[in-house]
Amino acid sequence: MVVQPLRTAYLASCLRPNLISPMADREISAEDFLPARPTLKSLREAARSCKGCELYKNATQTVFGEGTKHARIVFVGEQPGDMEDRQGRPFVGPAGRLLDSALTDAGIGREEVYITNAVKHFRWIYRGKRRLHQRPVLRQVIACRPWLRAELAAIRPEVVVCLGATAAQALLERVVGITKERGKFLEDQSVRALFVTIHPSAILRLRDKGEQEKEYRHFLAELKMVRKRLGDKGA
Ligand code: SF4
Repeated sequence: MVVQPLRTAYLASCLRPNLISPMADREISAEDFLPARPTLKSLREAARSCKGCELYKNATQTVFGEGTKHARIVFVGEQPGDMEDRQGRPFVGPAGRLLDSALTDAGIGREEVYITNAVKHFRWIYRGKRRLHQRPVLRQVIACRPWLRAELAAIRPEVVVCLGATAAQALLERVVGITKERGKFLEDQSVRALFVTIHPSAILRLRDKGEQEKEYRHFLAELKMVRKRLGDKGA
């Protein structure tokens, strides 16, 4: 079994709690930057100066979640993209526009939900003059998880919708196969109901228009399942 360095450090700190300071024994994470009184406002403010992993170094700014604190649904994506990084807002690029359309088609108002990402800084590499998205590695997802957990604790939504594997893995803390597990309400002790589907960018990446349309309909049907779960009062 491959043991992650963070887990090794964590296990060591459990075994030797009195011998060394916790800060010296474990990797830094967002945990070290959480405010004493976590509200959405104080969390957003504190996340601006997070250095819980190295991703802040190459990103323009922290992209925190957005939406009402009374949201009954929270959508969790992977990480900000190029436009999100520049604007400092989640889901404002092409994937965000597709999500907006799907929410409208499903009868869910974006102003009624909260939207965030598992990782709050943009990870990218240059390809020519373009900044190309790079999936965050497990260590970065784990380092950033305290922000996501704190957002969910502040909102206490009825359903958390994980858009893609990174979001699902961040919350379930295990490997998630999207094809096998999408479209179901899963158990998670920290949230009331957790639903897994694909990230809207996966639809945009399909080259065939027919396939794109088919996948969009599948995604939409899943959002309608989430809406139905909330009952007739809507989102
Ligand atoms: S990605 Fe998350 S943990 Fe890493 S610096 Fe940004 S906010 Fe902090």
